[in-house]
Amino acid sequence: MEDSNLRIPGPVPLPKDTLEIMSRQMINHRGLEYAMMLEEMSSNLKSVLMTKSDVYFITASGTGAMESAIVNTTSPGDDILSISIGWFGQRFGDISDAYGCKTTRLEFQSGEPADPEKVKKELLKNKNYKAVLITHNESSSGVRNPLREICEVIKNNSNALILVDAVSSAAGTRISTDGWGIDIVATASQKSWIAPPGIAMISFSEKAWKAYESSSSPKYYYDVKQYKDYLEIGQPPFTPALSTMFALQYSLNRMIEEGIENIFEKHSEIAKFTRTKANDIGLQILPKEEFASDTVTAIKLPENIDGKKLVNEIKENYNIVLGGGQQKLAGKIVRIGHMGWVEKKDIEDSINALKETLDKIN
Ligand code: PMP
Repeated sequence: MEDSNLRIPGPVPLPKDTLEIMSRQMINHRGLEYAMMLEEMSSNLKSVLMTKSDVYFITASGTGAMESAIVNTTSPGDDILSISIGWFGQRFGDISDAYGCKTTRLEFQSGEPADPEKVKKELLKNKNYKAVLITHNESSSGVRNPLREICEVIKNNSNALILVDAVSSAAGTRISTDGWGIDIVATASQKSWIAPPGIAMISFSEKAWKAYESSSSPKYYYDVKQYKDYLEIGQPPFTPALSTMFALQYSLNRMIEEGIENIFEKHSEIAKFTRTKANDIGLQILPKEEFASDTVTAIKLPENIDGKKLVNEIKENYNIVLGGGQQKLAGKIVRIGHMGWVEKKDIEDSINALKETLDKIN
């Protein structure tokens, strides 16, 4: 069967050379070859995330990286501020709840970014927040939060750790981990990293290590100290998803070669192109231009259109896979993913299919 034009916000399609790399033979994850690979990958990952802090590769999906952020820095009963602008923001808060933290939820409407002023107000109301949880790029609504401004507000008004879900932003959207004072960045291989699912990545600041010392949340598989100790001997604590690591090693090298600034620029351009094309066929983008995501575009559908049916028809007739709406946005929007390896033609085909199908079912 012919490959579909996979335009969901991850997993992303992979180029042929990456697919070939994944079919490499297995290696000893406790041997020299793995140690060399891990060292190179760690150094490249630090460059992309713009950090001098420790970074770790964990065999998990993005949610595993988010869970790692919580279990390694908090204790049951801690006050946690969870800023949510959609489905993934809620999930971060749910993980905090699951580990017995006292989670305060600061929620914003679907399609809206978080308001730094409201964050400030909440931080001034409660000086005890141990950590603030925030999504950088909310994949469910195609909104990019003003993360730099929010980090600034957090640093100026509290002593809280800043834990960021950057699952669908990192490697596609600028995230200046050290420059913005972020303590943990959580991301995952199947997004802008152009690798298959299977590897979660986190950065871990010195302040996060201080919090680790007093954290009593239960942890074992996600205990970051194990990753740190093993990294020192060039090994993972547990058997890694080797094929995904091979692909990720390859794409990290390619990113460094291409230049991270060029990659951000490319994402920003294709995102603008997608918005313009959607506007050209008479459709509106869910968020305001200023907060529109560089990695996934959420397009509003006319009221009388059943979004689920639309997505199914496009798959059936064009072999193009668009993302539907989730939760409150179910049936009301379509999402076009444009992270990683994507050409303008992929977007044009998607928008044409969208127009023809809308005309047909309208
Ligand atoms: N956060 C965001 C912003 C995401 O887009 C996703 C995945 N779509 C996740 C968290 C969860 O990642 P995973 O499905 O890899 O656990």
